[in-house]
Amino acid sequence: MKRPIYLDNHATTPVDPRVLEAMLPTFSVDFGNPASPNHAYGWEAEERVQIAREQVAAVIGAEPEEIIFTSGATESDNLAIRGTALAQRPRGSHIITAATEHRAVLDPCARLAREGFHVTVLPVQSGGLIDLAALEASITDETTLISIMAANNEIGVLQPLHEIGALARARGALFHTDAVQAFGKVPLDVDAAKIDLLSISAHKVYGPKGVGALYVRRRGPRVRLTPLIDGGGHERGLRSGTLNVSGIVGLGRAAELAAAEMDQESRRLRLLRDRLLGRLREGLPEVHVNGTLDSRLPGNLNVSFGQLEGEALLLALSDIALSTGSACTSAQQEPSHVLKALGLSEAMVKSSVRFGIGRFNTVEEIDFAASRVADEVRRLLALSPLTAHRQAGLDSPAEDWPSR
Ligand SMILES: *Cc1c(COP(=O)(O)O)cnc(C)c1O
Repeated sequence: MKRPIYLDNHATTPVDPRVLEAMLPTFSVDFGNPASPNHAYGWEAEERVQIAREQVAAVIGAEPEEIIFTSGATESDNLAIRGTALAQRPRGSHIITAATEHRAVLDPCARLAREGFHVTVLPVQSGGLIDLAALEASITDETTLISIMAANNEIGVLQPLHEIGALARARGALFHTDAVQAFGKVPLDVDAAKIDLLSISAHKVYGPKGVGALYVRRRGPRVRLTPLIDGGGHERGLRSGTLNVSGIVGLGRAAELAAAEMDQESRRLRLLRDRLLGRLREGLPEVHVNGTLDSRLPGNLNVSFGQLEGEALLLALSDIALSTGSACTSAQQEPSHVLKALGLSEAMVKSSVRFGIGRFNTVEEIDFAASRVADEVRRLLALSPLTAHRQAGLDSPAEDWPSR
């Protein structure tokens, strides 16, 4: 059986063969523990980890010592938010985040709120961007942390990091950004954007699953963190536990490749994305793009088709791997909190589909997907009671119809 065409690159990405090649020796000959100081196995492992630290740091303009390896971005987000909130508690207990953040940010903030912290969750504008004036107005002398993501995992919208960083720095608050979807896809510079903490994950940039990193600023200001995991004192005492050397080597190589190929790859992905949108618009009466196209990841397209169920559409499209909303929350089958935050109606949220175009997608795949999606959407719309109603020349709001 032919495998479905993979267009869900925001959920995860395949490991690039060049990344796999770099990882392979670490499973066999070079299997040492970087914390073993007494022999060549340990030194070699330590050296490989050091190279990866440099490779990751270089992508964001950081120093290698400012990179803490973790089990993935969920851990990085938790360490950044909980770690700084607890360490700074004597100074203040106010945290600011936004409604469209990943659950790996929202949930640790919610837990802190239950523990007595004051958390402001900023709304977003209809295009998905936060309102900088609202952010500025919400900062108080008690604010110790602002956590706003770089690129959204559902709608690909890029937040104005430089402006947020400047506001945070001016008011003495730390700035954390979940840069999982942006890392290696768009330029990031922790000094230019005054970012103090930045989360990344290997498996969203063609590296392996189960490994990530947190950038923690060392100078101007030096960020203090309370660790979540205590043990052998690895990673400057901020994240104990034997390092996942294979994963770290993979993350390093993935970072290096992404940076080297970023310009070329973004141009190609943008062309594919625009081609996909163009074809959908040619073939369909209603294609609503969720989130602004002006500030967006090149490989992301999130659209709503109106009166149909995204779930039903994806079931019919068994030859294409796509997603409605975010894969992380769709296990719970809840309507996307991101699309709801944009102010979309329930029908528009339900009929949304996320396309995540990636490194290994071809023009042929995009053309095939566009025509398959358009065909199935037309078929489902023809079955919809509202469409029948409209065609009969009657116009009535969707609310008049019982939900199916
Ligand atoms: C995937 C993702 C995460 C979680 O990363 P893991 O490494 O899978 O834990 C966090 N934030 C965003 C924006 C993501 O897309």
